[in-house]
Amino acid sequence: MAESTTPILLDRPDAPLVGGYEVIIGFETHAQLSTQSKIFSRAATAFGAEPNTQACAVDLALPGTLPVMNVGAVERAIQFGLAIGAHVAPKSIFARKNYFYPDLPKGYQISQFEIPVVQGGLIEFFLQEKKMSVRLVRAHLEEDAGKSLHEDFIGQSGIDLNRAGTPLLEIVTEPDMRSSAEAVAYAKELHKIVTWIGICDGNMQEGSFRCDANVSVRKPGGPLGTRREIKNLNSFKFMQQAIDFEVRWQIEQIEDGHAIEQATVLFNPDTGETRAMRSKEDAAEYRYFPDPDLPPLCISQEWIADVRSRMAELPRAMAARFANSYGLSEYDATQLTQSLPLAAYFEATTLVCGQPKLASNWITGELARRLNAQDLSIQQSPLSAQKLGDLIVRIGDGTVSNNAARQVFDALWDAPDGSVDAIIEARGLRQMNDAGALEKIIDDVIAANPKNVEEYRAGKDKAFNALVGQIMKASKGKANPQQVNDLLRAKLIT
Ligand code: ADP
Ligand code: MG
Repeated sequence: MAESTTPILLDRPDAPLVGGYEVIIGFETHAQLSTQSKIFSRAATAFGAEPNTQACAVDLALPGTLPVMNVGAVERAIQFGLAIGAHVAPKSIFARKNYFYPDLPKGYQISQFEIPVVQGGLIEFFLQEKKMSVRLVRAHLEEDAGKSLHEDFIGQSGIDLNRAGTPLLEIVTEPDMRSSAEAVAYAKELHKIVTWIGICDGNMQEGSFRCDANVSVRKPGGPLGTRREIKNLNSFKFMQQAIDFEVRWQIEQIEDGHAIEQATVLFNPDTGETRAMRSKEDAAEYRYFPDPDLPPLCISQEWIADVRSRMAELPRAMAARFANSYGLSEYDATQLTQSLPLAAYFEATTLVCGQPKLASNWITGELARRLNAQDLSIQQSPLSAQKLGDLIVRIGDGTVSNNAARQVFDALWDAPDGSVDAIIEARGLRQMNDAGALEKIIDDVIAANPKNVEEYRAGKDKAFNALVGQIMKASKGKANPQQVNDLLRAKLIT
């Protein structure tokens, strides 16, 4: 891994171009592992404690202390490897990455370099309805550094070492992404996986999931351009803005005849711009060497099998099962497995109504729209799976039309304790299935609109729709549109 492993790039003739340039993006993501204690010590990892109350002598590498591997952190790395179909290395090595920075007083970070614990793997996701995949190079265990505080100090900085030694999994992709939209979709999928399997709480504001985006541009088919790395993107919105700005900036530089220099840059959300922080160090400058205090990390096949046996169904497997056993499209199945609670809601609704396709449509359609509009999660939905299931039963058996069902849905949204059948009766939303009564209405409308009838017979489809409209109106929207169509057509032919 000391040598660059940049692979022969996937040819992507479908890649969108920006001003004639192809955008190349690779991600390095730091997912904070959800252990109670630090990666090599027993100090707590809880967020928000008083500065410097959660760092111990081991975290600071004081003389005479020794790091001890946290088994929980290793298990989470194994879980991740299994979730993305990667190779979990039977033996991996911890290395010291040497640099000096105020928030790292011990002078080195314990990380993995040449042999990481997780190797390879694939992240698959949809961008709109297009299926994409991003290859992972590796995921390695490492410790976090402390944090510099500038706000409460004038003319000086404070250091909070609570975060020092917090376990991280750094997840590195191949440069497989070709637009900011692809990059965001990848990051969302990765976020979904780590939170689904429970190895990371995914809280981006608190820094539990931070992404570095490596960005370069090139003429299609040409050699790779020099990349700049945008550090610590902690929201999907900033991610998109930062990459878009960076791409425009690089193209402008190249068009103006300037070479891009490899650099580490920061995104400023207030200005929407990226700015160079420092020129990028090469691996050699970190003088990596195996940590003499830590033995190789050995993971047996039995341990891996045991971890696997304790893991719940993964999103991709669940989506495949939804597609197969409920007859849904792969896209719909993926939508419904965006989170465990959403998937559970779908299965509960389907259990009630026995109509997976309708349940899928209502959940990814009307319900998703409503939840989005009010910024609610599925757990906060006023409408229970039971009630939505009840409603779908009444659509399926023809009691209400889709339109009327939407009115019932609205009523339930505002008064979730109501019963579907009671709302249908109280509001007179029952669909007219009585053919006799409907025929009477149709006959009346035909008699009252001779002009439309004549036009229809002369071949004008519009006239037919006008008649259907009249009939629906006369039935106060309770007629079954399909039945109206069939009956009207039959009557007009004779
Ligand atoms: P380093 O060792 O300096 O961190 P890596 O080879 O590990 O460099 O690559 C870091 C990240 O940068 C990876 O996600 C990789 O996919 C991405 N990357 C490498 N080359 C490019 C490039 N030319 N343009 C965009 N991203 C790149
Ligand atoms: Mg790297």
